[in-house]
Amino acid sequence: MYLRNCSNLPLRYLRTLLQRMENTPNKSLLKHYKGLLQSIDLYEYIMETSVYPREPAPLKELRIATANHPWFFMSAAPDAAQLMGMLLKIVNAKKTIEIGVYTGYSLLLTALSIPDDGKIVAIDINRETYEIGLPIIRKAGVEHKIDFIESQAIPKESEGSFDFAFVDANKDDYMNYHERILKLVKVGGLIIYDNTLWRGTVALPEEAVSEDRRDSRRSIIEFNKSIAIDHRLEISLAPCGDGMTICRRIC
Ligand code: SAM
Ligand code: CA
Repeated sequence: MYLRNCSNLPLRYLRTLLQRMENTPNKSLLKHYKGLLQSIDLYEYIMETSVYPREPAPLKELRIATANHPWFFMSAAPDAAQLMGMLLKIVNAKKTIEIGVYTGYSLLLTALSIPDDGKIVAIDINRETYEIGLPIIRKAGVEHKIDFIESQAIPKESEGSFDFAFVDANKDDYMNYHERILKLVKVGGLIIYDNTLWRGTVALPEEAVSEDRRDSRRSIIEFNKSIAIDHRLEISLAPCGDGMTICRRIC
């Protein structure tokens, strides 16, 4: 099966989480754990029954086109993307911003989810990876909705001009992005931050985490703490994909 045959971020995250729970000296934690994902088989069940069968054909094509790229693991998790697609439609998002495009899985998902006259400002420091997905985006007939900007800077746009933002670039910068993104998104709009469980390492002691992931782990932990007390937002850290913090601007 697909999930068993390839290295997969959410599965690795799930394994780490389950090992952590089994090894925890504080068994009372388990009493409060109400999650249902107690096995990789269950995750696979979700993917095979409700994610992959409903994945739009262009997204599937892009996922497959990305699978052999050396950084394939950076692509958005299809289960998290499915939730994001529904949220885009629930809030009737028309103008969106995305920071961190890579080959464009989340970008194409957004383009397929917003109306034909919708617009996405898509920012990435790397145009080359965007161009891997571009022929598929073109074939899907949604390129006209995308304004790709090769940059690391968030563009100067008027306050409250976006309905939706997806942040998936350098994890060390999430805190820096937040104030600017918050101003750009209108009251009632959504901001989604991806990878906020950072493969489960946020719940591990630093020594248990490989050195190359420690700085980002620390940044994500700090970010999660600050978002948790940010009263300008309603939040939900959804444990799908690699963790996705959904924020609704309320003032
Ligand atoms: N959302 C993408 C998807 O669904 O496939 C995955 C994005 S990938 C995790 C992160 C991307 O952020 C990379 O393509 C990288 O080039 C870009 N990036 C890293 N630092 C950045 C920065 N400071 N500004 C803009 N883009 C950045
Ligand atoms: Ca991501």
